[in-house]
Formats: sequence, structure tokens, C-alpha cells
Amino acid sequence: MSTCRHFVPLLEPFRDGELSPADVVDVEQHLVECERCAERLRLGEALRLSLKEHVRAASPVTDAFEDRIRMALAAERGREERLASPGDMHGRMLSWRGIMPIAAAAAVVMVWAASANNRVADSKTTSKADIASTPASVEKLIEDLVANHQRSTGPQFTEQTLLPQLETEVGVPVRAPNFKPYGAYWEGVSVVPVNNQRAASLRYRLSGHKLTVYVYDASRMPVRSTLKERIVRSAPVYVGSRHGVSIAATERSNGVGYAIATDLNNDESAELVASIY
Ligand SMILES: [Zn+2]
Repeated sequence: MSTCRHFVPLLEPFRDGELSPADVVDVEQHLVECERCAERLRLGEALRLSLKEHVRAASPVTDAFEDRIRMALAAERGREERLASPGDMHGRMLSWRGIMPIAAAAAVVMVWAASANNRVADSKTTSKADIASTPASVEKLIEDLVANHQRSTGPQFTEQTLLPQLETEVGVPVRAPNFKPYGAYWEGVSVVPVNNQRAASLRYRLSGHKLTVYVYDASRMPVRSTLKERIVRSAPVYVGSRHGVSIAATERSNGVGYAIATDLNNDESAELVASIY
């Protein structure tokens, strides 16, 4: 595992095209041999994409900004054409390296826009009423959970050891419930948008049935509020169904919400969600 320790810090610069050619070869070689690092790289990529989606949704890119990027890229392309006579790989590589700072600058602007937007949002929407507690917006939450459950896209990654890294994405610690006593097995996890928030979507399979467990910040996603309370083993759980999908939710005292979506019946989903602690 000492090799992984060497390669982990190189993965991000590798993804961003910032490594020397020799290091690139080393990292590529390691990725072929090491599924964990390949998984780490995919996770980084998935998180970067979901950040980009988030930013796009939160702050529509202005035309002026798009124009600036387009012009910068066009100028770069012009330079590339002048530099690279046919077969002149050296010139081509140089100009490709030249384009990286532009891409990096664009990324910085996007991240900055995201954080500026969040600050504005934080200052004016700390009243929870604004987040999602009207019946219509909670219903939208539930619809999103059901729709994501029904989608059949594969998980973004499968390594459970990477789950702690999702805390920055969804705002609460993400742990995988252990459903082995029920015969369920783990398939993988994605970060999914749910009514302008993000939740971790953990996929299991239970004797042929698809089972999705959402982990989310319960103060921002009041999933339980349109579901019916019932007591399972002396703890309250919240149950309902939409479009043939059973939803069962529970909240832990640390503010972590768990919701299960499955085509099992409500008794079974209530039992499963009550087993999470
Ligand atoms: Zn490795």
C-alpha cells in the first residue's frame, strides 16, 4: 500500500493535466494495477462534475462570461494552428499545455461563483421555511427520490471506504447501513440532486429488488413531513408510497436523514429503515 501513498497526491494533478510526462506514465501504470486509485480518480471526477452541475444550476453562466471563454479558446486554437505544422508534435503539446491555465482560470471563476452564491443563500435563507417545508416542495423532494430510485444508471463508485469523502458534498457524514442480516448486498453510491439539495444515493439489492438508501441533511430536506408516522421497535419512522415505490424515512439525533426507496412493501421498508443506526 506504500505505492498508493505515493500516488494518491498525484491523482488530482494527473486529472488536471499538470504532471510531467514521466509522472503521467507512472500514474497511468498504477491505475491499471490499482482498482482503489482508479476508483479514487473516478470519485474526484464525479464530484467535480456534480459541482459543475450545482454551479450551473445555482448561477446561470452569463453570456459575457461564456464569450470570454470562447474567445480565449479560439485565440488558443489559432496559436495552436500557427505553431503546429503537420507532424510537429512538440508545438502541439506546447500549445495544449498553454490551454490548461485558461481551463484552470475558468474553473476558479466557477468555484468562486458557487461560493459567492452560497454565501448569499446562507445569509438570506437560514430560515428553514425557505428551504423546503411547503407541502408542494416536500412533495417535489419525494418525487425526486422516487425518480432517482427508478433510474437505472449505475453507481458513480463502489468503494465503501470512500464514503467519508462525500460529507462535503451532502453536508452530513455518509455511512452505509448494514443490511446483510436481511440478505441485501451493496452495489455502490452516487451523489444525486434532490430538489436543489444533494443527497448520497446508496444502492443495494435485496433478493432481486432494487433498494436505494438516501443519506441527507434532514434540516434541509424534511422528507418525513408528508409521510405517515409509525413506530417500529419503539422508534418513529415515516412511511408512504408513490408510483408503486415505497418510501420509508428516519432521522437521527445528529441531523442525518435516511430514506429508503424500494418496490418492497411499506412494512418491509419501514423495518429496513428502522434497522439503521
Ligand atoms: Zn493505488
